[in-house]
Amino acid sequence: MSDFKLYNTLTREVSDFQPINSEEVKIYCCGPTVYDYQHIGNFKTFLMENLLVKALRIAGYQVKFVMNITDVGHLTSDADDGEDKMMIAAKREKKKSYEIADFYTNKFFEDWDLLKMIRPDIVCKASDHIQEMIAMIKTLEDKGFAYVANGNVYFDVSKLKDYGKLAKLDLKKLQAGTTIEVDAHKKGPFDFVLWFTNSKFTNHELLWDSPWGEGYPGWHIECSAMSMKYLGEQIDIHCGGIDHVPVHHTNEIAQSEAATGNKWVNFWVHSEFILLNSEKMSKSKGGFITLDTLTADGIDPLAYKMLCLGTHYRKQINYSSESLTNASRNLQKIYSALETLTINPQVNLTKLSTEAESYWTNFKTAIFNDLNTPQALAVLWQAIDDQTLVAVDKLNLILHFDQILGFDLSNWKPSKIEIPSEVQALLELRKDARLNKNWEQSDALRVQIANYGFEVKDLGAEQTITKKL
Ligand code: AMP
Ligand code: ZN
Repeated sequence: MSDFKLYNTLTREVSDFQPINSEEVKIYCCGPTVYDYQHIGNFKTFLMENLLVKALRIAGYQVKFVMNITDVGHLTSDADDGEDKMMIAAKREKKKSYEIADFYTNKFFEDWDLLKMIRPDIVCKASDHIQEMIAMIKTLEDKGFAYVANGNVYFDVSKLKDYGKLAKLDLKKLQAGTTIEVDAHKKGPFDFVLWFTNSKFTNHELLWDSPWGEGYPGWHIECSAMSMKYLGEQIDIHCGGIDHVPVHHTNEIAQSEAATGNKWVNFWVHSEFILLNSEKMSKSKGGFITLDTLTADGIDPLAYKMLCLGTHYRKQINYSSESLTNASRNLQKIYSALETLTINPQVNLTKLSTEAESYWTNFKTAIFNDLNTPQALAVLWQAIDDQTLVAVDKLNLILHFDQILGFDLSNWKPSKIEIPSEVQALLELRKDARLNKNWEQSDALRVQIANYGFEVKDLGAEQTITKKL
């Protein structure tokens, strides 16, 4: 097994990754709340998670990758305030909440596929796991971590000695502050709802029977219950966006560790935000950018993937059309390299030569070091520009890199370029000049061809032609 290092939000350190069970790495990722289109910020996080799963697999681990779909219980504030986002969307679009969930889940996976991401091994919908959530709440109640007030079931954070450890919350300081809105029925301001039977919004469509009355779950309990169902009581890695640290993930830890009495997650991995006009891109703020926005502007969704890979996942990206244009150009650079190289028979991940192997090692070292994608891309550019690598080797190497980068390059087809008849004639002349070893004439013809905006390269006896960038 290779050395694999990851930054852990829990310890605030990069440390060696060791799986709990060497047979299988267990990863849980918080999925989308399906009340609206997912914006490109959400996909920054999903792209990081995809990269992590692929990198671990390349490092030799078996990985079980689970992601949920939130279709009930996520209120407008990540804490327990406001209306369920699904109900807001149902009113907005005059539909039933399950129709909203179906529509946006399908759209989410269409976008997911456009970004050529691998699918999770298990996708689990919150509304399909209500019994598991009820069972967990029951355990929490039996163990004295939950109480009923005003018809709702709350988690009592005072019963857990290390509540807030992920976000390093200083509860006393926060309590003294004025920013927390206190629900009068809670025993303490940080207690949170596990089950609602009595919310101020009475129009909730999704209701289930429970030991506490007809109602619906709080948002946080779904991830604890589904993660335990599919991955067991302890997992290796839990991922999400950085916004989830102070509330959602903090409360997931509280419920899970209170229920089992053991440490739940070894590594917490969080992606930083994409910003729009220097603010977190967010659905609730409106004005967000989706993949549809990009494709309507003629931008390949994979250019957005390239944009994300160009910055380390723990750094913010300030979205701008210039940064996207740059990323498009970089993507084009790979395509141009392939266009030059695919004159050879299709290469299918064969053994690398010694020269190519050292690039592959450097690439993996960068990725296995807390997913250092900018450094891995630097290795890719160096390999593409290396004139000493033979074509078949270079192509093979690019396909190796793509197992982690995920641009689906093995299915990439060269775009048919129209070669004007004048250029075609020059190519013929150049072919003869090369056969006659008249290098001076061949070089002069290359310049003439360049004047038409084409670049000619030699691969053995063959000439290949690409449009100049
Ligand atoms: P949601 O659908 O709001 O539950 O979010 C889905 C995922 O996207 C979560 O992991 C969020 O933390 C993440 N996320 C939300 N906004 C952004 C953003 N602007 N940049 C990066 N990730 C985000
Ligand atoms: Zn979650």
